[in-house]
Amino acid sequence: CPQVQRALRALTIPLERLQVMKNHMMQAMCKGLSRQTHAQATLQMLPTYICSTPDGTEKGNFLVVELCQSQVRTLLVTLLGDGNLSPQMMYKTFDMPEEIMKGEGEALFDFIAQCLSQFLADIGSFQERLPLGFVFPFSCQQTQLNKAELISWSKGFSCSNVEGKDVVQLLQSAINKQELSHVEVVALMNDTVGTMMTCSTERAPCEVALVMDKGSNCCFMAEAHLVEMAEETSGRMCVNTEWGCFGDNGSLNDIVTPYDTCVDGESSSPGEKRFEKMVGSLYLGEIVRHVLIALAAEKVLFTGKNVAVLKEKGVLKTQQVLDIIKHEEGMAATKNALEALGLQPNERDCGRVQQICLAVVSRAASLYAAGLAAVLTYMCHTRDMDQLLVNVGVDGELYHGHTRFEEVLHTVTRLLAPECVATFIPTTDGSGRGAAMVTAVALRLEARRREVNEVLAPLRLSRADLEQVQALMRQEMERGLGRETHDNASVRMLPSYVCSTPDGTEQGQFLALDLGGTNFRVLVVHVTEEGIRMASEIYVIPTAIMQGSGEALFDHIIDCILDFQMKQNLMNHVLPLGFTFSFPCKQVGLDKALLLTWTKGFSASNCVGQDVVQMLREAAQRKQHSGLNVVALVNDTVGTMMSCGYDDPKCEIGLIVGTGTNACYMEEMRNVGTVEGDEGRMCINMEWGAFGDNGCLDHIFSNFDKVVDDQTINPGKQRFEKLISGMYLGEIVRHILLAMADRKLLFQGKPTPKLYCKDIFKTKFLSTIELDELALRQVRAILQELELNASHEDSVLMLEVCRTVSLRAAQLCAAGLAAVVEKMRENQGLNQLSVTVGVDGTLYKLHPNFSKNLQKTLQDLAPNCTVTFMPSEDGSGKGAALVAAVACRINSP
Ligand code: ADP
Ligand code: MG
Repeated sequence: CPQVQRALRALTIPLERLQVMKNHMMQAMCKGLSRQTHAQATLQMLPTYICSTPDGTEKGNFLVVELCQSQVRTLLVTLLGDGNLSPQMMYKTFDMPEEIMKGEGEALFDFIAQCLSQFLADIGSFQERLPLGFVFPFSCQQTQLNKAELISWSKGFSCSNVEGKDVVQLLQSAINKQELSHVEVVALMNDTVGTMMTCSTERAPCEVALVMDKGSNCCFMAEAHLVEMAEETSGRMCVNTEWGCFGDNGSLNDIVTPYDTCVDGESSSPGEKRFEKMVGSLYLGEIVRHVLIALAAEKVLFTGKNVAVLKEKGVLKTQQVLDIIKHEEGMAATKNALEALGLQPNERDCGRVQQICLAVVSRAASLYAAGLAAVLTYMCHTRDMDQLLVNVGVDGELYHGHTRFEEVLHTVTRLLAPECVATFIPTTDGSGRGAAMVTAVALRLEARRREVNEVLAPLRLSRADLEQVQALMRQEMERGLGRETHDNASVRMLPSYVCSTPDGTEQGQFLALDLGGTNFRVLVVHVTEEGIRMASEIYVIPTAIMQGSGEALFDHIIDCILDFQMKQNLMNHVLPLGFTFSFPCKQVGLDKALLLTWTKGFSASNCVGQDVVQMLREAAQRKQHSGLNVVALVNDTVGTMMSCGYDDPKCEIGLIVGTGTNACYMEEMRNVGTVEGDEGRMCINMEWGAFGDNGCLDHIFSNFDKVVDDQTINPGKQRFEKLISGMYLGEIVRHILLAMADRKLLFQGKPTPKLYCKDIFKTKFLSTIELDELALRQVRAILQELELNASHEDSVLMLEVCRTVSLRAAQLCAAGLAAVVEKMRENQGLNQLSVTVGVDGTLYKLHPNFSKNLQKTLQDLAPNCTVTFMPSEDGSGKGAALVAAVACRINSP
């Protein structure tokens, strides 16, 4: 029959069209989530402030009160911490008088509180704190889990003085009036999220819920940073899509049939909730009714019968439609239903009606599948996963026991989102039990938060702490500079004999050596009017030489210089040489420096206490290299300052934050008690890494710092450095993670054996984790490398640990710098100092937050100084050459 075929075709949506709808749904979701477009979006994508799903450890008694149509339901759920397998529940339902739904708001909440009071009396009162979850299925502007302003009433409610108010507070006041103040409203939620919270299994968390009831809705766990309407930025948050409104902007127009248009026209809100009206059980019977009307008018159904009964709204129930399409009893049900309407159907009528019902229900299932596929694909993409394994909690009368509906839903979902493996978990009473779960999870998170804060508290420095560190640094600087106090100062303030920064007129060709960084290098540096050109070569220093005799070490260095000069065709030149030597030295002239101690794995014999430049010259003699003119020995901080100073004359500070940390700055000679003379200025190599070695910082060291220090080759030494630099931050994080695992805050209390290995957690992981906060893909790679089995919440907590440790490092570095810039400002008698810091070091340069935090804290601690940071390019090479160049400029007539 062509008329019937036409109707069936109109109700059948091809897969390609469903794919298009899925894409539109995803766009609508993004629009609803973005702050910019939220106001115009059809999907509201409401944040719920539910940031975690149950993990099975939830335990205790939880009270739930649910406001339903003309009823208040109360419920007590007892969770045993056994995976939530067997929650005990007690219910009571109270009928609500009609006048309360339309009366005073206060009366409504008093009524709810009275129901609670009676329920508690019935089940035997509880005296201890009783957390309560409030299921409030109206449109709310939620700003916290327990703070939500009612936007507008619906579903027959219209109580006065509630719209625009916080309904949690209204309920809590009413509860307190009943003298139940041990009952605390912890969470407010919509009914959809409850379904999600009851469907987690051991195999996968439940992170999506579909409600397929009279209305239609869906919620899912979104990446929190994408939920722009909420302040949360890390972790995930459940979003209530309110997808019933999808299509209200016309995006469904080409699949809407004339039957849908009739249903919409007869509804109480024409033009609204277009999607819901195609899938909600409130409407399926109505859609079928309009198809029957149309076909009867075309005389292909109920021919010759009186069909006036079909004009009446609601005569065909959705439940009947669902019975009609059943595999076995379907035919009988069809006959019954139609006969009950007095339509006197024949065989053919029944067959056709059955086909129509099946088409309407299948279409609803396909549309649900397209919506769900949009959510799944969105989750999979935003989590940067190749495959998403997830449970989908399902509630509502359409789903339960209706195999034909289920079959279509499952198949079409798979076809539209092949990258996602969804397991459908039916639930009943999601809203009540789920509300208890929401409340329980909220309390679990609260307790966990308290413990996390306890662990991290010693690493969080207050402004007062930082001011004190600044003051102590200043005090140690003074002591390091003073002739009498110098020997006992932890900050050694070593004179560098560099008395001037570059003025830009320097010119010539220089050799430079860089020893003590990650690589040993030889360089040739051309300083010209047009700028600086360099060529360099990296040489390996074998461990046997690093730890052999001093003579062998310096002989090796000369060999490398000879090789370099040969390669660069510089054999016949005698070039001034600057030597970057990044070990602590007591400098007694620009080209005279006694090694105080080796660090970084060097231990060549007969060097400590010797003049490094002299040792190099002697080696040159031994090797009969006569063309060596060592002009200066330079610390890497000084080199950094000089190389930036060449481009910016205001650069009078050098800072390194790499493997270690150190700083230098231009000090007035009159303040340098350890060098004769009061005229002019000199760069001071602070060696600030040792700040605190005299115990003055003991109060800010946490237990983690002490453990890290104990396991180094120089316990008790370089204490400031061990809070800040690349060699140590990863270790600090590792020890915090272990402590947290020990308290069962991470990795379910079971870290991998790998995490017990020293230095396994690299400082570059902090950079990766903090940079990748949005995607978490790199984080997963790191976790895999460490063989850590981390849940999503674990990785969010790891991010917090990394941030805490790197923030503290940056803040301490800023406190040190604040002491320096403030001293320079006072030296010059200025109200306002403007100065540039030349900076080097991989931690500073590559960590995503370090430099930002450093600058922000510095500005806060030294508001009268305007400090510019200038990353140096090859400070040690270029800087050493520039020190030599400045020396040559000053020495030449
Ligand atoms: P050095 O200080 O020895 O001259 P660098 O300035 O290159 O060398 O610093 C090396 C240190 O930087 C390493 O010890 C490591 O801890 C740290 N590091 C390496 N990569 C990163 C990164 N991506 N983010 C933060 N720190 C890093
Ligand atoms: Mg370096």
